[in-house]
Order: sequence, then C-alpha cells, then structure tokens
Amino acid sequence: MAAIERIRIVGAGAMGRGIAQVAATAGYQVEVTDSDPRAVTAALDFIATMVRRSVDRGRCTGEEAAAILARLCPGVSPTAPADDVDLVIEAVVEDLAVKQSILAELEIATPTAILASNTSSLSIGVLATALGDPGRLVGLHFFNPVPLMRLVEIVPGLRTRPELVDTARSVVERIGHTGIVVRDTPGFLVNHVGRALPTEALTLLSEQAAAPADIDRIVRDVLGLRMGPFELLDLTGLDVSHPVMETVFAGFYNDPRLRPSPLAAARTTAGLLGRKTGEGFYRYDGGERESIAEPEFVADPAAIPVYVHEHPEFAATLRSAGASVLESPSPAAVSLVFPVGEPAYRLAVRAGLAPSRTLGVDPLSVTGKRLVVAVPVTADPVATAPALAVLAAPAALTLTADGPAPVAQRILATMVNLACAIAESGIATPADIDRGAQLGLGYPQGPLDYGDSVGAALITRILDGIHAYTGDPRYRANGWLRTHADLGLSLRARETRPTDLMRNRGSHAPA
Ligand code: NAD
Repeated sequence: MAAIERIRIVGAGAMGRGIAQVAATAGYQVEVTDSDPRAVTAALDFIATMVRRSVDRGRCTGEEAAAILARLCPGVSPTAPADDVDLVIEAVVEDLAVKQSILAELEIATPTAILASNTSSLSIGVLATALGDPGRLVGLHFFNPVPLMRLVEIVPGLRTRPELVDTARSVVERIGHTGIVVRDTPGFLVNHVGRALPTEALTLLSEQAAAPADIDRIVRDVLGLRMGPFELLDLTGLDVSHPVMETVFAGFYNDPRLRPSPLAAARTTAGLLGRKTGEGFYRYDGGERESIAEPEFVADPAAIPVYVHEHPEFAATLRSAGASVLESPSPAAVSLVFPVGEPAYRLAVRAGLAPSRTLGVDPLSVTGKRLVVAVPVTADPVATAPALAVLAAPAALTLTADGPAPVAQRILATMVNLACAIAESGIATPADIDRGAQLGLGYPQGPLDYGDSVGAALITRILDGIHAYTGDPRYRANGWLRTHADLGLSLRARETRPTDLMRNRGSHAPA
C-alpha cells in the first residue's frame, strides 16, 4: 500500500478547502491549488479562521493549531509538475470536460500520485477514460461541510487498481472519517439510497394523500427521522435535489423505484426552490419557516362510542384516555380498523364494517407520539368527526386520505426496499448501506436496520399490498427483501454467494 505524505488539493472551493483542513489536521502535508489564485488565498484564510476557532473552543492547543497551519501551503498551480505528491484530490467544478482535462494533465504532472476525484455525480469510469492509465483514478466523495460530515464514499471505477481502495481507506481513517466502499453507479450510495424518501413523499403529495407539513410530521413522529422530506427538500433546494432525482433515475434506466415527480419539476421551474427563494413547500420570512398549526379536535372523548377492530392494546389505551370503547360493532359507534398494506375501506368491507363509519389507524403509529388516521372516501363526516376527539386524546393526531397503504408504511417500505435493492446488486455491503444512510443522510437508524426492527415480513406484506392495489412496479418487493423475509433472516445478513463455495476455484469457475 502506497504511503501517503503529501496531498495536493485541486479546486479550493467549498469542498477543496474542507478537505485541505481535515487532511492538514490529520498530519498530511497539503498543497492547496486552484485556477483562481484568489480562491487559494480565501481557502487558506478560511481554514486559519476555522483552526483558530477550534483553539478558542478548546478543541486543540495553540501549538497544534500552528502545526496544522504550517502543514498547509499554496501550491504553484493545479498542474505544476511534482514527483513528491502522493495523492491529488480533485475538487473542481462538476463538469466532465473540465475534470477530464485537469486529470489528464495531472497524470503527467504528478507521475507517482494516486489521482482522486470528489465528483458527486460523474462516473469514475467515465472520468478515467481521459487517462492513459485509468487504474490510477479512484473516487473520494466527501460531503459538505467536510469537517462535520464524517463520511467518505470510496468509489473504485471498473478499471481502478484494487490497492487504491486500501490506500484511500487508510487516508480516510487517518482523517477520522468513515470510509465506505461503493460501486461506481449513479448517485454512488448516499444519493441513491436517499432517493426513496423524497420521491415517495412527492408521490403521496401528488395523490393528495396529505399536505407537506402533515407528511413531515408523520415522518418525524412515526418514523423517527429528524427532518421531514419537505423540510429537507426546502433546505437543500429543489434546484439541487430535483436534478439529482432525475440523474439517478436516468442512470438506472428509469427504474420506477427512483421515479422523480412532475410536481418537483413544475415547482423548480416556478422558482419555488425552498429556503433560498423564500418559498418552497413552506414559506420563509427572514429565514424562519412559517409555522403551520395543528388542527384541534376538541370534544368529550366519552361522547361517542368507538369499536376497535382487532387491536386490544389500542382499545385499552383509548379506555384509559376516557373513551367509551364497545366490544362489538354498533350502528351508533365509529369503527377503527388497522390496515397494513391496504386501504382502510377494504379492511372495513372485509370485516363487515360500514366504510361510512370507519376510520383507518396506521398500526405503526399507535404507540408513538402521533396517531395517523386514514379517512375513507365514503366516510360520513358528520358521523365520524366526533371520534377524532377520542383519537386525539392520547397523542397528536394527523388525518390523511385513505390510499393504497398508510403514509408511514409507504415511506418506510419504499426506503427499506430500495436499500435491499442496493444490497442485492452489491453496490455496497449491508453494513455500509446503513452507515452511509446514518452518516450521509442523518437517519437515526440505517434503512436495513429499520426494516429489521419492523420486520422484513411486514415490509414485504406492505409492498405486496400496494403493488397489488396500484399495479405500479415502483412497489415490487426486491428479491433480497423477499428472501430474507421468507427465511427470517436479518436484512443485514450477507447472502452466501456461489463463489463462497469455490474458494479454490480454477480459472474456469464463474466470477
Ligand atoms: P466550488 O464552486 O465551491 O469550488 C470549485 C473550485 O474549483 C473553485 O474555486 C474554482 O475556481 C475551481 N476551479 C474551477 N475550474 C478549475 C480548474 N480548471 N482548475 C482548477 N480549479 C478550478 O465547488 P464545490 O462545491 O467545492 O464542489 C467541488 C466538487 O465537489 C464538485 O465536483 C462537486 O460536485 C463536489 N461536491 C460538492 C458538494 C457540495 O455540497 N458542495 C458535496 C460533495 C461533492
């Protein structure tokens, strides 16, 4: 494995300066270069400010700060000849022609260096076609802001020399970040696995299942994510997120699991980009998001009886909140059903309950902070509305339209299913898929781990139900998910591959 001591950063913008900072902090000698010399000065000034701030906050001593800054220097030029540079990290503008031309020059100028690109959306294999020796290039995808986002995707192209992966991993580890090895595929891992949440949320919105603020509340309070999908889209800006959705979708030849939304396209064109334009899915005033009040459901919980269909725990919860809960259905009561992977009305009809007096409670929501209730299209508003006060007594309450499955189930199942598809195609290992989602997307739990905690069989049942109802191949359960569910395995359990039985295989065995 090549020993790395001297690193050249090419492109001293937002990413290049962050990478330079963490590399110098880790003890590497770092040359900072850019086609614009002012960018180099600005980057070095910025890093000096950051390092001094670390001293002020007690995170490093004055001597350590001085040593970090002494390891940084402005380079002569991005492509100045040097035989003592061990690693070049290219972080210039995201433009294929620009990156290829710089890499081709660097191949000659720095003959002994490993070449790395911080591209977020270009294929490493395609970038490498500019090189005489494509084996010298590896993807090193840092996240913004680099010092805080402690994940790096290490992306070998099809022709990258395998030992570069080990060297890249040791650099990432020395920097104190987590390196995950990802196949050179559209969106790499994080931008791929992260497509399920926004695309399903936008699909729900286009079906008028619920308003953005309600979908966000469901995702936060039922699924436990820190930020709802529409808050996140507003923060990132649709001008950034929508093209990523389109690129990853096109890159996988229009896989319906990754389908972007015409809603996002229209909003992007209209300039409703999010925080940066003052209006997205929410409005912003002086950077502050508008607050959208929760509806109030006030009445005496005991005023109307409810019948709870096959959920004794929830019946007990309602009783202890003062509700009048009947043991059997009654024309005077509102019935509650608990749909999994189907609309509430279907379950009501199957159970012999009148859909006009039935509401669907998402069973995923019954023990949490927020109860999510689907309103069948035939619900009688006058007869069912009084029951909402009963349901709002133990927790916050969100109403949604009745659809192919409850909102939280749809979002969770599509997230887990996409992660399983990624595991199946070997884009990353199950552990790295979860680590990538946690560190790169801020999910409290990786999607495979989340699938395990709810149960792979339940996720499969939800998807099969939605698929049967809609006929939309977006919801087809992936083979990894189905196999692990059938066999009762953890979704993070590695599958035995034929090659595992061929340890001493000869040259005729399949790869
Ligand atoms: P930036 O615009 O902040 O900085 C790019 C820098 O490259 C500028 O200083 C520019 O002067 C310099 N540059 C342009 N052409 C050059 C050339 N021919 N030679 C030398 N320098 C040149 O961009 P950024 O946000 O730092 O992004 C850089 C790379 O990192 C892109 O590939 C981007 O996709 C990727 N990336 C960005 C983010 C992010 O959130 N900003 C996250 C991950 C990866």
